[in-house]
Amino acid sequence: MDESVRDYLDRYGVSDATRQFLAKPRKMFIDGAWVDSGDGATFDIFEPSTGGRITSAPSGTIEDLDRAVRAARRQFDGGDWRRLKPLARERLLHRLADLLETHGDELAEIESIDMGKSVTFAREIDIQGTVDTFRYFAGWPSKLHGRTVEPSIPGNYLAYTRKEPLGVVAAIVPWNFPLQTMAWKLAAALAAGCTVIVKPAELTSLSTLRFAELAQEAGIPDGVVNVVTGRGSIIGAAMSTHPGINKVTFTGSTPVGQEVGRSAVGSLKHVTLELGGKSPVLVLDDADLPRAALAVANGVFFNSGQVCDAGTRVYVQRSVHDAFLDELVKVTRTLKIAPGLDRDCYIGPLVSAQQKTVVSAYVEAGRRDGAELIHGGGSPAGPGHFVEPAIFAHCRPEMSIVREEIFGPVLVTSPFDTLDDAVSLANDTPFGLAAAIYSNDLARVHTLIPRLHAGSVYVNAHSTIDPSMPFGGFKDSGFGKDLGPEQLDHLMETKAVWITLP
Ligand code: NAD
Repeated sequence: MDESVRDYLDRYGVSDATRQFLAKPRKMFIDGAWVDSGDGATFDIFEPSTGGRITSAPSGTIEDLDRAVRAARRQFDGGDWRRLKPLARERLLHRLADLLETHGDELAEIESIDMGKSVTFAREIDIQGTVDTFRYFAGWPSKLHGRTVEPSIPGNYLAYTRKEPLGVVAAIVPWNFPLQTMAWKLAAALAAGCTVIVKPAELTSLSTLRFAELAQEAGIPDGVVNVVTGRGSIIGAAMSTHPGINKVTFTGSTPVGQEVGRSAVGSLKHVTLELGGKSPVLVLDDADLPRAALAVANGVFFNSGQVCDAGTRVYVQRSVHDAFLDELVKVTRTLKIAPGLDRDCYIGPLVSAQQKTVVSAYVEAGRRDGAELIHGGGSPAGPGHFVEPAIFAHCRPEMSIVREEIFGPVLVTSPFDTLDDAVSLANDTPFGLAAAIYSNDLARVHTLIPRLHAGSVYVNAHSTIDPSMPFGGFKDSGFGKDLGPEQLDHLMETKAVWITLP
């Protein structure tokens, strides 16, 4: 561990449990064993507020993935997991949720140190969301069933359907909500009776490795949960084609998702793709402007803008446009930029130096294209990958800052006149992950909801997530759903059974 990281942990009084976890080079988790990669290769893991090195993790090989697939297959095809009585499976998942909750503060510290995010939000959102997701899906195994049917064709039949788990599921996870996104994929798959192999993002493997220790402690049988760390272009790509894997559930960028989808079709795998976004926000002229400004700022700057459904394009009805932007700038000024372990941090560093370069280049492009930068966009002096939240006004639809996903704290705004104009602007994007409306005029709100091409529509709110509600995109934001009962449909086969009766 670099001196700068050690000083950082000292300055913010990080717990002994977290220090001990970070002190050792990590191993990956295959078939209940903690192992190095087959060729001994590792990659370094860095802390974004200081830029210093924390530790290392194994850079998995194709042979490592093969071992994980064999373990997951053995458990699925002949093992205990899918044959475990539903209530016994529920008990194990609840035990895991309990352990995640008990170790919540430690997991939040690990997540903040690894990814740069606010430790406070990590505890309240990421870790609580992870616990809630496991609790919600822990309740499902005893409620999964088919139906009996009364056929109309001639003859006398007993006809019914059975719900059966899909098989071995590979989960490919991004770095913005590492543990929570992993939970979104694993909890439902395990509840359905599938076995899993997770590949965390290279930048953020640590919380998933700590999770695997807790899964083992909870008594999840060996081979049911496996974690292979390493490069997306090697492990992720091999997961998409591996004949022993029945489904790939991917969360990440649209270009990589397209690649995963194309590869998975080759071996006819089931696929869920949760991809990028450029979500529109419509502020109507009757909105409560101070409240809307606070919610809009949260909706785009939370997690330093590294949120897939961030409301990054804000369209404001012309009569309230200037007043709304004044409120928005006022609120944005109050958001504290600080290292992730600072309990009052709102805007933490971006995840990596590369991400900072990308986001800063977009701010420059916005300026060059003639958008008016009315707040922020610079980088504070000192270490860490910080970018101040940026607000651009009077943006035009063809600008790259309006069209492309930036994945950083950059907001683009422009005025609109009629609701038809607002709908055209909102839908003028290849993405379709989410949309938000700020208004208390129910008639106008209900007219707008069906016209917006997005998987989630938030009204007077943004990014409200609950395990009971499905989440997933339309258009280039992907297909399939995480969360809610809908996710279980994507993790189970339906078998039709016909029995001739005398
Ligand atoms: P990314 O696409 O670069 O990587 C995502 C994961 O895919 C990582 O684990 C990576 O190692 C792996 N990967 C990389 N190349 C691969 C390949 N060729 N084959 C298979 N896997 C490969 O995305 P990112 O930069 O980690 O995350 C940011 C992106 O994720 C943004 O576009 C964001 O919108 C999206 N995202 C979407 C959702 C959602 O629910 N829709 C949620 C969070 C993030």
